[in-house]
Amino acid sequence: MSLQAPSTRVEEFKAENRARRTTYEKAYRLKNKDRIRAQQREYYRANRERILAQFKKSYIVRRDAIRTGQNASLKRLRAELKAEVLSHYSKGTMICACCGETEPRFLSLDHIHGGGNKHRREVNARGIGLYRLLRKQGYPDGFQVLCMNCNFAKSAYSTCPHQRHEKDAA
Ligand SMILES: [Zn+2]
Ligand SMILES: [Zn+2]
Repeated sequence: MSLQAPSTRVEEFKAENRARRTTYEKAYRLKNKDRIRAQQREYYRANRERILAQFKKSYIVRRDAIRTGQNASLKRLRAELKAEVLSHYSKGTMICACCGETEPRFLSLDHIHGGGNKHRREVNARGIGLYRLLRKQGYPDGFQVLCMNCNFAKSAYSTCPHQRHEKDAA
């Protein structure tokens, strides 16, 4: 036995029915406009508190949904911008120029010749603002992609330990 009823026919019938009902309801509403409005007013007076509370509740739910959506799309836009800029400064490889780290969330932008803080102050941009600025400026030279560890080590010890090891070994 198949569960698939002759669904097309049923759907057509439902659609026709819906259309008929809508037309009928429209005509009814038009004819009884004033009476319906009076009824609604009366209903509202009797249930004011409940209606307002319900309205407020659905408003808050909607507002939160919109905010969440906006946050999500902002997050996505930021991630796309970061990926674009890091991709450029790693020549499309998206890997740390020092240790080869590939986890995108660990990667960051490094001012090759130092002076990152000074530059950030000068252009008054950091984080995502700096990414936006660099893209706007057509990707000026002087930046590379390093992972957080290598970036931190470079600024704290001037050379990343990774590079020292290589020198020691040589
Ligand atoms: Zn690294
Ligand atoms: Zn390193």
